[in-house]
Amino acid sequence: MSQIPLFSSLSTHDLFVRALQHEPLPCSRPQCPGPVQATDASQVHDRVKRFHLHCERCGHDSEMTGREQLTPPWDDAAMLTMADEHLMHQQPTCPFDGTPVVFHSLPNPRRRARYRLACFFCGRQADMDWPPSESRR
Ligand SMILES: [Zn+2]
Ligand SMILES: [Zn+2]
Repeated sequence: MSQIPLFSSLSTHDLFVRALQHEPLPCSRPQCPGPVQATDASQVHDRVKRFHLHCERCGHDSEMTGREQLTPPWDDAAMLTMADEHLMHQQPTCPFDGTPVVFHSLPNPRRRARYRLACFFCGRQADMDWPPSESRR
């Protein structure tokens, strides 16, 4: 069987971002219009998400995961940029791979905002206080 170019027009990363944002995915088979269902098959503590892809038209199954790369970690400047974008209601993206970064609010015992930032493609995560304790004082 000849090799079918996978998702010819979209990179794996493009597809991953679409699945992450619940956007429609094309089928990897030529001439198949899909639709393809992406199911989040990650475990709760997975840093890198895994999606199970199933084409409702042709029944093609495949799996897609991010590419874990934890070093170098985000530096303070990168985290401030992402936090700023989040507060401005823009979508922050991981500076290493351009994946939308997810912000979780964490319990804030001192009445300060506390966030966990997570990129589910490379697996980088970081917690930060807002406003940051060191700068802006
Ligand atoms: Zn298909
Ligand atoms: Zn990333």
